Amino acid sequence: MSPRKKVTVLGAGMAGLAAAYELEQLGHQVEVIEASERLGGRVYTHRFGAGPDAPLVELGAMRIPANHRHTLDYIEKLGLSHKLREFKTLFSDDGAYHRTRTGFVRVREAAEVLVADYQELMGDDLKDETVLFGAWITAIGDAIAPGSFMAELRPDFAALLDAVDRIDITPFLVGEARDQIDLHAFFAAHPEVRNSGTGRINHFIGDILDETSAGLRRLEGGMDQIVTALAEQINGPIRTSHEVRGIAVHDDHVAVTVSNGQTQVLHCDQVLSTIPFSVLRRLELSGFSDDKLAVLGEVTHWPATKIGFLCRDAFWERDGINGGASYGGGHIRQTYYPAVEGDPARGAALLASYTIGADAAVLDDLPEEERHALVLDEVAGMHPELLEPGMFVEAVSLPWGKYPWSAGAGVLRWNKDEAACLEERDRAARPERGRLFFAGEPCATVTGWIDGAIESAQRAVRFIEESSR
Ligand SMILES: Cc1cc2nc3c(=O)[nH]c(=O)nc-3n(C[C@H](O)[C@H](O)[C@H](O)COP(=O)(O)OP(=O)(O)OC[C@H]3O[C@@H](n4cnc5c(N)ncnc54)[C@H](O)[C@@H]3O)c2cc1C
Repeated sequence: MSPRKKVTVLGAGMAGLAAAYELEQLGHQVEVIEASERLGGRVYTHRFGAGPDAPLVELGAMRIPANHRHTLDYIEKLGLSHKLREFKTLFSDDGAYHRTRTGFVRVREAAEVLVADYQELMGDDLKDETVLFGAWITAIGDAIAPGSFMAELRPDFAALLDAVDRIDITPFLVGEARDQIDLHAFFAAHPEVRNSGTGRINHFIGDILDETSAGLRRLEGGMDQIVTALAEQINGPIRTSHEVRGIAVHDDHVAVTVSNGQTQVLHCDQVLSTIPFSVLRRLELSGFSDDKLAVLGEVTHWPATKIGFLCRDAFWERDGINGGASYGGGHIRQTYYPAVEGDPARGAALLASYTIGADAAVLDDLPEEERHALVLDEVAGMHPELLEPGMFVEAVSLPWGKYPWSAGAGVLRWNKDEAACLEERDRAARPERGRLFFAGEPCATVTGWIDGAIESAQRAVRFIEESSR
């Protein structure tokens, strides 16, 4: 173990809190500086009202893939494992809807129209099963990624399907009519197909598989319980409403300019910054290496917007939907049906719209009232019950692209291959002068997930330990 140190942690999202916790476990002293009034950053559970019975919607992170060991280890360590529940995702409830060129169809009835749509788009010089494969993987991609990104990936998909066409995929046909594909089983049996295309499609398929995997979990009662429980384990002070305005790295200390109404300069021995790069690069920075300044500018962030509705009741259950999500296309993109676990008399929360990338940017630019009205109108096209008197109660939204403390929802690496992702991670995480360390999403091996934030925090803690050896 290295000598006891004093570390100032900037940011109280998952990376900052995990790092503070791990540093204390190793005997170091920490202080956490957080700009907003709230802990958790992009883990943000909104409750419609007070108390444990209030309907809730996750405005940030909402699901945990089964292979996210760092997140699941923390959940266990924090005594929250008994609250893990299945997270029903896109395509998991075949009563949910999917928007096609001919309108909304139930997932269980979608194959025929998806194949027709796909043939119109890509031609049909492939085996029937390969076309079915192409139709489903495109449908899932459309539901997950912004339209512009899918258009960019079209040549990559074509190359992938050439590889699929050489394989007998009949063992992976599922559903009563055997007109659906078990993509998870297919890619598990044929991992070489992912590598036959470009690095970026391999990466994107990884995300498709994560987002539609059967092993997804959630936390009953809200994801922010991880944040609250973790913060309770930290002994050092966590100063909320303290905004970092500048960081100056010197050989013998790091000067951090902080404002909480009054501006003060903290002279720190060692600092661990988890401030998202989209925010950090706008601060007053000095003493940083040229490469760090370069990577701060190069990391790309994209927006995402979530809009939650409080409804009188879970009307979708009467329509045969028992969780999961629909792909509504248009401006709404994804609509999720959270389980009603509070007092039903207090209503039911619907995640009316979840958009990312360019799709989110369109909603972000609208004033809140207009944004909510547009989404209500479009979701009602799929669910006319929303227009029944008293059904829609209120809306909440979080346009992450405009959120001042992350200026984006996540780091975009879908367009990079594996080697480029790792190079960006290593440059982002490299410490400055053995005094300023970095953690958080840009320093993670896998971006866009809590798991990466924790992993990056653990690596930064190792760098801090090593810095005095
Ligand atoms: C819409 C959405 C959906 C997601 N879905 C999932 C999911 O289902 N599952 C999953 O695992 N992950 C999901 N994620 C990703 C996950 O939430 C993030 O990757 C992770 O929480 C990032 O943690 P972080 O600590 O790196 O950053 P953040 O959570 O952004 O923490 C950074 C902290 O720094 C603070 N800060 C910023 N600027 C300053 C400043 N100047 N001074 C002081 N403090 C500052 C911020 O307020 C914040 O608290 C989702 C994210 C979003 C936005």
